[in-house]
Amino acid sequence: MHKYEAVIGLEVHAQLNTASKLFSGDATRFDANPNAHVSPITLGHPGTLPRMNKRAVELAIKMGLVCQCEISTYNYFARKNYFYADLPKGYQISQHTTPICKGGIINIPTTNGVKGVKLTRIHLEEDAGKSIHDLDDALTFLDFNRAGMPLIEIVSEPDMHSAEEAAAYLTEIRKLVRWIGICDGNMEEGSLRCDANISVRLQGVQSLGTRVEVKNLNSIKHLKHAVEIEIQRLTDILERGETILQETRSYDADAGITFSIRTKEDAEDYRYFPEPDLAPFLFTEEYISGLKNQLPPLPEVVASKLIHVYELSPYDAEQLTEEKDLYDLYEIIAQSTKHKKQLANLLLGPLRAQLNQSDGEWKNVKISAANFDELLTLISEGIINFSLAAQKILPRMMADASVKPKSLIQELDLAQDADADQLYFWAKSVLEAMPDKVAEYKKGKKGLIGLFMGEVKKQSKGKADPKQVTSILESLLHQ
Ligand code: ADP
Ligand code: MG
Repeated sequence: MHKYEAVIGLEVHAQLNTASKLFSGDATRFDANPNAHVSPITLGHPGTLPRMNKRAVELAIKMGLVCQCEISTYNYFARKNYFYADLPKGYQISQHTTPICKGGIINIPTTNGVKGVKLTRIHLEEDAGKSIHDLDDALTFLDFNRAGMPLIEIVSEPDMHSAEEAAAYLTEIRKLVRWIGICDGNMEEGSLRCDANISVRLQGVQSLGTRVEVKNLNSIKHLKHAVEIEIQRLTDILERGETILQETRSYDADAGITFSIRTKEDAEDYRYFPEPDLAPFLFTEEYISGLKNQLPPLPEVVASKLIHVYELSPYDAEQLTEEKDLYDLYEIIAQSTKHKKQLANLLLGPLRAQLNQSDGEWKNVKISAANFDELLTLISEGIINFSLAAQKILPRMMADASVKPKSLIQELDLAQDADADQLYFWAKSVLEAMPDKVAEYKKGKKGLIGLFMGEVKKQSKGKADPKQVTSILESLLHQ
């Protein structure tokens, strides 16, 4: 047993998928020129008033519902006052004592099964602008496009104990926000960001150790690495008998280190007070249940359907529920074909590879369910083998959704040679040409069957049915 136990709590910021900012009509587009979407409201000019974005509220509540939070029916915002160049108003409008969602849980996979990580709260707040320090040696540039963007902050309890758990937690959040469509989950573009709080204590001790906070981790890999580094660093400090300072650190991905940016002597004083320009708001139970009804079935629910109704393996079910668009495609085709397993193979193997290669997206796959079924039926009837279908037919169907697999197989002359005599002849000549290999096979090197098979396939220009060839080869080899 380890001497120490790591304790981790994460603060995750997710940018909500809205067309406009949290309190103004400014667009939330990412591709704009600097300071293109900056109205006087965003800049907090005197006389301007914030106005609540209704859709942002809905999306925050949806996240709370899927995380089994208690939704606060009475909400108001608070001003968090601090001075920084990227904060044009001099305060951030956030939620302090009345977060929109309280408590809750996020289930993560671990090596010991599913673990529920407890949440403290989810609250709504606006983002700050962006300071750009690396364009000029002497000057800092400010881009306020991000100022006022709608965020939720998901705060976990100090409930995780390893870098793997922290990574699994963030992975699950990314999957959930994408699944319910509240955030694009794009960590490179900063739509999803994470601060990690880490402490270490002696095994068995109940109270929390002094924590460090690593700010702005922008990938799951970075989070995992930063947590690993900190656990080791804090453990070393304790082993040397020294005291840990509560501090805020930054992670340098290139150097693979963390470094201190400030020590926290006392909690910062933000002089929170209720935002006077936004009236408190109340939600009715009907409003909340209406939002609940809009939620799609969650990944764990549909994965269980894939396993129990379509009889897929847990592995296939997990893969198919990684992304909502992939699952939606699978589901819609599965309704029109009985070849559920082969369909999973086709999507997760060759189709996924093709999309990756061409930067394509699942939602843009235009092949009809009927054409997928036709192809899967041709494969199952042995008219064409799976790998030829994947290599030659699928790309053509992707390029032109009106192409019929059956006629394409004829056009390309790809129908499998089921002529057993021909296969027998090829198999025999392949084995005769390789007497040494045949001897090795007979001594127990059974893997060589793959080599023989490959040769027969070459002779047949890829058309031979692998199952039939295997059985012919085996019967010849065991004579
Ligand atoms: P702040 O907002 O000042 O960073 P919070 O009290 O809201 O502070 O805590 C933020 C996060 O830090 C939460 O996710 C919480 O679980 C985590 N946390 C707090 N104390 C510890 C600790 N001693 N070790 C690890 N995580 C901690
Ligand atoms: Mg914090």
